Amino acid sequence: MADPIDPIALATQLINCPSITPASGEVFDVLERALDSLGFTIHRFVLGEPPDGPTENMVAIRGQGAPHFGFAGHLDVVPAGEGWASNPFDAVVEDGLLVGRGANDMKSAIAAFVAAVASVDQTKGILSFLITGDEEGYATFGTPRIIDWLNERQIKPDMILIGEPTSVDRLGDTVKIGRRGSVNMWIEVPGTQGHVAYPHRADNPVPRLARIIAALDKLHLDDGTEVFPPSNLEFTGVDTPTHASNVIPGCATAQLNIRFNDLQKGAGLVRTVEEIATREAPGAKVRARISGEAFLTPPGPLYDVVVDAIREETGLAPELSTSGGTSDGRFLIQLCPVVDFGLPNATMHKIGEHAAVEDIRALSRIYRRVLEKVVGPAPREMGRASLRYPGANSGS
Ligand SMILES: [Zn+2]
Repeated sequence: MADPIDPIALATQLINCPSITPASGEVFDVLERALDSLGFTIHRFVLGEPPDGPTENMVAIRGQGAPHFGFAGHLDVVPAGEGWASNPFDAVVEDGLLVGRGANDMKSAIAAFVAAVASVDQTKGILSFLITGDEEGYATFGTPRIIDWLNERQIKPDMILIGEPTSVDRLGDTVKIGRRGSVNMWIEVPGTQGHVAYPHRADNPVPRLARIIAALDKLHLDDGTEVFPPSNLEFTGVDTPTHASNVIPGCATAQLNIRFNDLQKGAGLVRTVEEIATREAPGAKVRARISGEAFLTPPGPLYDVVVDAIREETGLAPELSTSGGTSDGRFLIQLCPVVDFGLPNATMHKIGEHAAVEDIRALSRIYRRVLEKVVGPAPREMGRASLRYPGANSGS
């Protein structure tokens, strides 16, 4: 076992390196020093040019054999914004809270995991840190490039824990086991502009767009699954370029979003909308942007160790949820089962972002219990996590 590492001191050092997305350099130096002292082999690579780069990524590996347990996270943060009571990049502890940009999302979790690793006797398997400098941006040079790096070297984790802040009211109440997918679409119906008093010289696109909207509104995509609600299409805007009361507009547009479960794929939903739009209004055009596909980690050993560790430390049986915005789990799921678990997330991205010092210490103890079960000296009997229906309707 290595010398103990104080997660609060390490989180403070990380926060004190401003690392607005995309990040590289100093903040990675701090993490490298900590992991170097724990015997990790550290690989760092910087990719890209502004605006999506330069982005730094770090893969730190220790041990050999099986299993390979990966911890994933990001060292970039969102911009501080105005109105902080203290310097957002000079962390302070006030009333038991560690305050600073990244205290919650998610430098404290990285520090908590490093401290957990320092407190465990690794007797088998591989531990790795998969840390990116671009999770908050478009991830162009972020986690997908870490996956390329691993694939090129045929390094394949067996399970990955992401330290994003997933708890809601209390540390340990929520674990994320998947996310819904999201696709935005824009429908444009062409027409011919003209005077309302001379409709025979114009071609009004509005009734045709209305037929498309009515048809799509009736669309039944699926019934959902045990862990996901039904996929849902919502219109978010309808418009014409002309708003005068005596003009037939030359085109009409509508905008929609679909949040979808793992019975659907983004491209298939785009095709469905295109078919209905061109059937109701030949000549209609559909543009689409798929933000992310749905994913789900099936029940298995990763669930069990995370849920058992939380229960042993906090007494809580966490909800296994698919709610909320997306995470780099959408990429990492290509490699192996992925679960997100971290701090209560009430202040992520906010002015005055903070985390309770006690929560950070307890999170580190939960991570230590996870490590003891996976790579520690005495594998204990694994309990069974029961899959409960998650509340999957909130989120960005
Ligand atoms: Zn985050």
